[in-house]
Amino acid sequence: MKTLIRNATILPMTGPEDMLHGSIMIEDHQIVAIGRESTNFKADRIIDAKGMIAMPGLVNAHTHLGMVYFRNYRDSSLNLQDWLEEIWKLEAHLVEQDLYIASLLGIGEMIQSGTTTFADMYFFQAETVKAALDAKIKANIGLTLFGDLKESKHRVATILPELQQMSGGSAIKIDIAPHAIYTCSDDTLRYAVEIAKQENSRFHIHASETIKEVEDSLATHKMSPIAYLASLGAFSVPNYLAHGVHLAAEDYPILQNKHTSVVHNPSSNCKLASGIAPIKKMADYKIQLALGTDGASSNNTLDMFQEMRLSAMLAAISTEKTILFSPYDILQMATIGGATALGRAAECGTLEVGKDADIILINTDKAHLTPLNNIYSALVFAAKSSDVDTVLCRGELLMQNRVLQTIDIAQVMKKTQTIWEQMKNRN
Ligand SMILES: [Zn+2]
Repeated sequence: MKTLIRNATILPMTGPEDMLHGSIMIEDHQIVAIGRESTNFKADRIIDAKGMIAMPGLVNAHTHLGMVYFRNYRDSSLNLQDWLEEIWKLEAHLVEQDLYIASLLGIGEMIQSGTTTFADMYFFQAETVKAALDAKIKANIGLTLFGDLKESKHRVATILPELQQMSGGSAIKIDIAPHAIYTCSDDTLRYAVEIAKQENSRFHIHASETIKEVEDSLATHKMSPIAYLASLGAFSVPNYLAHGVHLAAEDYPILQNKHTSVVHNPSSNCKLASGIAPIKKMADYKIQLALGTDGASSNNTLDMFQEMRLSAMLAAISTEKTILFSPYDILQMATIGGATALGRAAECGTLEVGKDADIILINTDKAHLTPLNNIYSALVFAAKSSDVDTVLCRGELLMQNRVLQTIDIAQVMKKTQTIWEQMKNRN
C-alpha cells in the first residue's frame, strides 16, 4: 500500500528550522520520502492536507486506561492518598472483561486527540494489549507489580508469557511496571529490575510524586525515592519515571543519564495538588523529558494538547518567568521525548525517511488558529485536540476527517456506560 499526503505544512520535529511545505510518501508502514512529490511514486491512496499541519503522532508516556470508568467521579478536594483510597475501593469491583472496553474507549479518545503511542500501567493487561492490537495503535503495556515478592513472582509467572505471546511480532512492547516505592516491597522492586534486565524490557514506575512519598522514603529508607530506586538498581535498566515532582538536589545527577526519562503529568499533579514538577531545572540538567496524561480519573481526559498547554503555563508561573520552555521544547516532550522514554526513538517521534508513518494532520482552518503566525506557539497555546483531523499509525489510517477507522466509538461509549452502571452495583 502506497499513501501520499500532499500539500501539507510539515513539522518533522527534527529541528525548529526544518519546517517545510510539501508531501510525505509512505510505503506500507514507513515514510519513504518527504518534500517534493516524486512522479515515480504511484500512490494507492492520496490524502490532500491543504491547510493542515503534518507532524509526528503524539506519545502519551504515562496513563492508566482502565481508570476511564472513574472520570469525573468524586474527585473534588482529594490529595493523592485520599484519592488512591477512594479509587482502590472502586478498583476492587473491576473484572477482567471490563478492561477491554475501557481500553478501547481510552484509545479512541487518544486517537481523536492525536496520540499514536501510549504507555499504560494497570490491571488485566491482556485486555489492554488486545484493545491496542484491535485499534492498531502502538503501546508499551506495563506488567504492573504491587506488594511482596511472592505476589510479584506469581504475577510475572502467570501474566508475562501471555502478554509476550499476544504482542509478539506487533508494535506492542511489554514493560515491567512496579506501581511505586510505597506499594511495592524492596524485594519486588529488585525483582522488577531483574526481570526487566532479563526480558530486555523497560522499567516504568511512579516516583517522587508527592511530599508525603518523599518524607516517608526519608523516614524509612533514609534517602529520597530516586536515591532509593538507584540503591535497588533501577537505573541499571532503561527506565521512565512518572511525575518527578519533588526532587532533591542529589536526585538530578541520578536522573541525568540517557537510559532514564521523567514523564511530566501536569494536569494530574495540579488536580491532586501534588505540586509542579521542575521541568526547567531537569532540562538544564539534560534530563530527558516526556509528557503524559496519567489516568482519566486524575486528569480527567487523555488529551495531550491540554497537557502541552498546561506544561508551558506551569513552567512559566512556577518560576515567574515567561516562556521558560519554548513551544518547540514542549512539542518535543510530547513527540520524540515520549518516543525516547518508551525505547522507540529509532522508530517514531519525528517524521524522517525510514521511520514509521506515525503522522497526525491538524486542521488550521479555525478561528482560534487565525492568523497562525508562529506555528509552534499555535500548536501549544491555541490548538485544540478536536483540530486533529487525520491520524496514521504505521501507515494505517486510525482516523480520517475526525472519523475513527478502527473503533466503533459509539458502541464502545454505550458499553462503557453499561459496565459502569453494573460496576457500581457489584459487591
Ligand atoms: Zn499514574
